[in-house]
Amino acid sequence: MHTLRIDAGRLQGNLEELSRIGRLEGGGVCRLAFTEEDKRARDWVEAKMRALGLAVRIDRIGNILGLRKARREAPPVLCGSHTDTVATGGCFDGSVGVLAGLEVMETLNEAGIETEVPVGVLSFVNEEGARFQPDMMGSLVVRGSLDVDHARQIAGVDGITVGQEIDRLSFAGAADFKRMPIRGYLELHIEQGPLLEKNDIQIGIVEAVQGIRWIEYMLEGAAAHAGATPIELRQDAGFVAGCIVQLARRLSIEIEGQRATVGTLRLSPDLVNVVAEKARLTVDLRNPDPGRLDEAEARLNQGIEEIAASERVRVRRATKVNVAPAAFDPVLVNAVDQAARGLGYTSIRMTSGAGHDAQILAAACPAAMIFVPSRGGISHNTREYSSPEQIAAGANVLLRSLLAIAG
Ligand SMILES: [Zn+2]
Repeated sequence: MHTLRIDAGRLQGNLEELSRIGRLEGGGVCRLAFTEEDKRARDWVEAKMRALGLAVRIDRIGNILGLRKARREAPPVLCGSHTDTVATGGCFDGSVGVLAGLEVMETLNEAGIETEVPVGVLSFVNEEGARFQPDMMGSLVVRGSLDVDHARQIAGVDGITVGQEIDRLSFAGAADFKRMPIRGYLELHIEQGPLLEKNDIQIGIVEAVQGIRWIEYMLEGAAAHAGATPIELRQDAGFVAGCIVQLARRLSIEIEGQRATVGTLRLSPDLVNVVAEKARLTVDLRNPDPGRLDEAEARLNQGIEEIAASERVRVRRATKVNVAPAAFDPVLVNAVDQAARGLGYTSIRMTSGAGHDAQILAAACPAAMIFVPSRGGISHNTREYSSPEQIAAGANVLLRSLLAIAG
């Protein structure tokens, strides 16, 4: 069993085949959640699972579970990730985890290995949240913190609801994974950051994931002539928005482990010679420490109130996403560590900067993650790349740690 390895060529072939669904001209893919492209990719995964002899079940939000037979019936050890992407996504974010999981199943089939407890692959729906928020929607449903009927009512950026798309494209099955006991969940993913590549390390053993908050701010001042209105008479929503961008950077510098980003900012009326009446912007806050995350949000809101009051601009805010930091299960983290060592790969322990389904599941079952390097640390971009060798190393660690837990 110690010489058992996945087939790197086969895994690469599957990654290439999947990347043809929703392919963008010039590379990369667009498979926004609950679109035809997303559905075609999910059908492709389902067909692969059936071809591998897995028992396939789909729940009411569209999560797909493929389970392999074992010596005894018991809570399964699962691996997986997602196949939806952002609008200008790469071919690796999410897909690597699902396809490596399928590759592990095929490797076990070929070697005729029967595990003690079942192993399987879980492909989550709408991890990215680019069209419908919250992100990690599928794993939130599995954990039981998002009700399917509520999720169906959520409208996307285009006004269409999740439920309408689920019905139109037949995403749903009848299964319910909410109370399914899971012995462990392992997710292989590209790092989406520069640390592994920069330090020339093959495997990231992920111990924790940062907490994430997305807050939207709506500012309302008064439109005025850019030439005729004295500064002291202005209620400039654009000025307050600019101060928020600066404040976010200052918090990132002053609070340990903090990242704060203004990723969207729209001014209205958005004209060259008019003081902005309104501004709508988002702040993405991340920190591995829950107390520091609270501190960042409190200081952000207090700073915004002060600036807005002095400019006589009204502020409304709405929290769009609030995901607590997650610490992964020490037993699973150790299993990944042992597997990487046993295979002779270089590895480091690290915290994930990006959010993942594993972080959601960590509240419901033991979970851990395996990272492989991302070239240039680039992700959520068509230029995203990890080499076949890097992905194969991650898949071999997944295979070995999964076996260690499943017996
Ligand atoms: Zn992902």
